[in-house]
Amino acid sequence: MGPLSALLIFLLSFSATAKVVLIDPGHGGEESGAVGHLDPKRKRAIFEKDLSLRLATKVKEHLGKTTTAYLTRSLDRAVSLQERADLADIVKADLFLSIHFNSSTNPTSHGFEIYYLDNSSNVAANKVERAENLNLKGEELIVNQILVDLVVQQTVAHSKQLARAVHESVRPTIAAHKVSDRGVKPGLFYVLALSKRPGLLIEAGFVSNRTELQKMNQERYLDDLAQAISAGVQKFIQTQK
Ligand SMILES: [Zn+2]
Repeated sequence: MGPLSALLIFLLSFSATAKVVLIDPGHGGEESGAVGHLDPKRKRAIFEKDLSLRLATKVKEHLGKTTTAYLTRSLDRAVSLQERADLADIVKADLFLSIHFNSSTNPTSHGFEIYYLDNSSNVAANKVERAENLNLKGEELIVNQILVDLVVQQTVAHSKQLARAVHESVRPTIAAHKVSDRGVKPGLFYVLALSKRPGLLIEAGFVSNRTELQKMNQERYLDDLAQAISAGVQKFIQTQK
């Protein structure tokens, strides 16, 4: 059986009951992701890889109470996009949640946004896609175009539903913390395509915005956000039963 037929069989077998969730803290090790600073003198740096691990760990704790949840990394180490996706097969994940934080050259950019895999993505998503697709090489991207199309066709309906459920759940929480809502968007994220699962890539706020970074660096905010994300995933799982 070739890899594509294996993929098709897997995708068609995506059952009505999703139980295993693989949570993917973005970046790690020497790949720190976006870098923000808590102080105007830029001495107190905060790395996206650390914030994403903190939030992902909390999401795992919440989700783990009612479903099976794993992390693609539980330490500060480098994991390639392919390795993250391979883990989805190893743990037989039904859903894939990639956790990231955003960055912009405009220090006033702010807010929380959710992406699902769709190759009809708009120009606005391109900057975020570039930042999160970094560690895949050119040839791989071309080969994977076929896989992307197949995976999009088979997962987009579930991914959209999942995105809506998480968005609904997160909205009151971010509003309570005065973090703005940038909504749900399509995006071409290779980690989502390679995982071959319905899934999301969450950009939980801008590390380049100091006010927002100060909020995101607080345990209470990360706890509330993790709780809301998990509740949304749970709701999606319930609707699939
Ligand atoms: Zn990232």
